[in-house]
Amino acid sequence: MQKIRMTTPLVEMDGDEMTRILWQMIKDELLLPFVDLKTIYFDLGLPERERTKDKVTVDSANAAKEYGVAVKCATITPNKQRVEEYNLSEMWKSPNGTIRAILDGTVFRKPILIDAVKPVVRNWKKPITIARHAYGDVYKATEYRVEGEGKAELVFTGKDGTTFRETIYDFECGGVLQGQYNKDSSIESFAHACFQYAIAEKQDLWFATKDTISKKYDQTFKLVFQDIYEKNYKAQFEALGIEYFYTLIDDAVARVIRSEGGFIWACKNYDGDVMSDMVSTAFGSLAMMTSVLVSPDGKYEYEAAHGTVTRHYYRYLKGEETSTNPMATIYAWSGALRRRGEMDGLTDLVAFADALEAACIETLNAGIMTKDLVGLVEPGFEVQAVNSVDFIKAIRSRLEAKLA
Ligand code: NAP
Ligand code: MG
Repeated sequence: MQKIRMTTPLVEMDGDEMTRILWQMIKDELLLPFVDLKTIYFDLGLPERERTKDKVTVDSANAAKEYGVAVKCATITPNKQRVEEYNLSEMWKSPNGTIRAILDGTVFRKPILIDAVKPVVRNWKKPITIARHAYGDVYKATEYRVEGEGKAELVFTGKDGTTFRETIYDFECGGVLQGQYNKDSSIESFAHACFQYAIAEKQDLWFATKDTISKKYDQTFKLVFQDIYEKNYKAQFEALGIEYFYTLIDDAVARVIRSEGGFIWACKNYDGDVMSDMVSTAFGSLAMMTSVLVSPDGKYEYEAAHGTVTRHYYRYLKGEETSTNPMATIYAWSGALRRRGEMDGLTDLVAFADALEAACIETLNAGIMTKDLVGLVEPGFEVQAVNSVDFIKAIRSRLEAKLA
């Protein structure tokens, strides 16, 4: 069989522990036999980050910026225990944080749905993608514990010396105080990433805040989105027959629960933190959650939402077989290959990505699955729990049949 051709390389970011093992298995079994895989390889595994003083992470992010599409394996974010375990000279920052800062991107999370596992919300038929604005608000707030009587004020001093001053509250007793901020530039980047992604996915975009109560802060988010939509994206949305709409967060929550899914829900930082956990739990499993970082100028970095699955890795090191679910990591590859194919006009590559995902879904619908999913299946559905190797082999045989 002739291998499927690529023209522009993907930026490949390898990672750590169990997902690093899966990464190689996926390449060997599901990609290299079929695709003339072109990648620019960066090893973001912790030993290499230590060796390069984390330069490799920065280099990989810059390459993603240059080439436009990257695929990333889960990586360890070091904590004190990891510093000892890997004998690190420094507690290197989260690679995802570094990459997100360089690409100025927004993270979109989308579940993979299968017949055997039904969302808790019965009417959800299609995935709901959550876009979280990962900058500012309560995550960068200044807080103060008020211990007794006194006056709290909001003061802003402009560079030209002009000041704004308003009383927040005249405390007659103890209490709490918090100062939050966000920046137009960050909200604008968030909005561009959301509109770009909605166009790429050909899906409606919903955005919601509490602007009825927060008449300047949340109102700014609403106005920035509206302005960017009208100036840059309205015509494209109309041509694609997709919709952008803004609504109050309370209304959005009610509509999301009653919907059948199949749209992108853009959320402010805190809402996105909370709602993404709610939506992903209702859909089933973290191992079935995909994630893509999209920059405001349309660069994409695909990955799984879960981590390096450390507990399974330690078992693997002891020679035990593990039943780690590779679905989200496979979808990171298929997502990246599809996007590359679309950008380069390679219909065979797009078709390969579709076939790979279809082979995964067929395998799961045949009841062949990793242990994490077995406990979630609907009653009456016959399943066979397999290890990661056998699961990937079962996908491969279906993929071969499709491509024959
Ligand atoms: P995790 O790797 O997501 O795993 C937590 C648990 O969830 C696992 O022990 C496993 O449960 C289950 N799980 C997750 N993914 C699975 C899969 N694909 N198949 C089967 N089960 C799966 O989170 P963690 O243990 O908190 O973090 C481990 C490391 O990952 C940390 O060093 C952290 O820094 C890193 N991390 C990286 C990223 C990223 O790169 N994007 C994200 C999150 C965490 P059972 O053990 O019960 O089977
Ligand atoms: Mg959370």
